[in-house]
Amino acid sequence: MTAAPAPASPRTVRRAVVTGGAGFVGSHLCDRLRADGTEVVCLDNLLTGSPDNLADRADDPGFTFRHQDVCEPFDVTGPVDLVVHLASPASPHDYARHPVETLRAGAQGTQHALELARRKGARFLLTSTSEVYGDPLVHPQPETYWGNVNPIGPRSQYDEAKRYAEALTTAYRTARGTDTVIVRLFNTYGPRMRPTDGRAVPAFITQALTGRPLTVAGDGSQTRSLCHVDDTVGGILAAAAAGHPGPINIGNPAELSILQLAHRIRALCESASPVEFVERPGDDPSLRRPDITLARTVLGWRPTVDTDRGLAQTVDWFARRLVGARP
Ligand code: UDP
Repeated sequence: MTAAPAPASPRTVRRAVVTGGAGFVGSHLCDRLRADGTEVVCLDNLLTGSPDNLADRADDPGFTFRHQDVCEPFDVTGPVDLVVHLASPASPHDYARHPVETLRAGAQGTQHALELARRKGARFLLTSTSEVYGDPLVHPQPETYWGNVNPIGPRSQYDEAKRYAEALTTAYRTARGTDTVIVRLFNTYGPRMRPTDGRAVPAFITQALTGRPLTVAGDGSQTRSLCHVDDTVGGILAAAAAGHPGPINIGNPAELSILQLAHRIRALCESASPVEFVERPGDDPSLRRPDITLARTVLGWRPTVDTDRGLAQTVDWFARRLVGARP
């Protein structure tokens, strides 16, 4: 494999604001920023995030947690170099339960985070999603693909919120002069996913570890491409450090069917759980795989965590929390 080029125009981030910093991806991002010496102000309303994710930051003087709904106007005192807007329910189960909150996080939440970045002269990074491609008719998905989204479907609250957030971010860039970048995160997995968030990885792991059937939707032939959270965070930081406005896909092109995923997780858990085929949700995308040519080229970023290794580490993390679950 050829070596990736060096990141373009790295910039110093002394102080960052992370919205949704108590969530799965957000908390890992906070940890990495702190490891890099960046002071972090984390804002979260704890709708789907958890203080447990920030346990390592408890006695960290360079880290501040603020219970804040970013759908309401907010300010942060002092200088800010980077605003990362992650705040939103992100699993299909969560955004189905909180459709209005999800739309508001993408609309008002994005605007308030953009306003903060504009006032502070900070770089703004929007974490968008592969869901902007909907049920894609182009495969794999490059950033130039406009997507195939049902605007009133069961996933519309998330997909359209993120599409609006992308449009708003673009408007702030062109009309207000804010330094912005959009990244589109593909399926991310790893420690700190909630066992009950409804996504395939935590669902299959908890089912396999507790001897329950693995609930595969449809015939399991639909595909996803799983990116370990450490890689996702690396991609976010690379985009924050570069000058490119995006959108830039951040994901791992290693594509597998959901049935393959269930079998792999069952094997890693050394579980005898059967597979149970259940009804497939409406508008569930059939294929998903990122084209990461742009990220490789302009960020010098590529995923490095092999899926089996990342899944094994994630299984271990879940097993430690489900005492006695592992054979
Ligand atoms: N899925 C499944 N069983 C589950 C949870 C999810 O078969 O218990 C399927 C789901 O229908 C979808 C895929 O796994 O086809 C990925 O779902 P997930 O919620 O993890 O992510 P997303 O749909 O947002 O990519």
